[in-house]
Amino acid sequence: MRPADDPGCVGCAHLVTLRALRRAGVAVQGGLGCEEGAVARFAPAYGRWAAVTGLERLRQRGAGELLAEASSAGAAFVLVADRIAPVRSIRMEEEMARAGARFAWLDLDDAAGAEARVREALDRPGTVLLALASCVNGTAHQAPFAVDPSICNRCGNCLTLACPALSDGGESSLVDPDVCTGCGRCAPLCRSGALGPGSG
Ligand code: SF4
Ligand code: SF4
Repeated sequence: MRPADDPGCVGCAHLVTLRALRRAGVAVQGGLGCEEGAVARFAPAYGRWAAVTGLERLRQRGAGELLAEASSAGAAFVLVADRIAPVRSIRMEEEMARAGARFAWLDLDDAAGAEARVREALDRPGTVLLALASCVNGTAHQAPFAVDPSICNRCGNCLTLACPALSDGGESSLVDPDVCTGCGRCAPLCRSGALGPGSG
């Protein structure tokens, strides 16, 4: 899907959304709100899949219709992921409740929590997950992050984000300073404290 492929999307919070889906073993049909219609196939062997769509489609069709459509096609849950700031909407939550949907927000600043919400949704029929984050495409970059090779133990946890700026450099993970936007999303994944702004 787009955040891992488009250079303009480096630093997109939906890298966390996609990481959560991959790690929970969920294949995806559909696309984020910025790429409606895209289809991601993380691995053909995955036995469970989720229907992904944008906010506009949720507004047009309603949670009940989306859930019914996804469920009849065998999807475990519906994920609504889009490129706007996450504003809590009571009206949307009431509409979900009327449609009998369980809904949960993905906090994209909490990669472990997002993964946990996706795993829970697999076991709870009728779940709509909401993942909203402002688009970073075209926004100003911060100072690039870097890996301190004397601390990095090559655990690979940061690489699970699939950020295009991060790679396995052999001796340690590496950040490409020409690609990194300084978003900082990788740093909480490093339990060793090897990743930081300009360290290394
Ligand atoms: S700070 Fe980390 S996650 Fe953000 S663009 Fe740079 S390497 Fe990628
Ligand atoms: S998470 Fe930290 S210690 Fe692990 S590979 Fe990445 S930079 Fe190195």
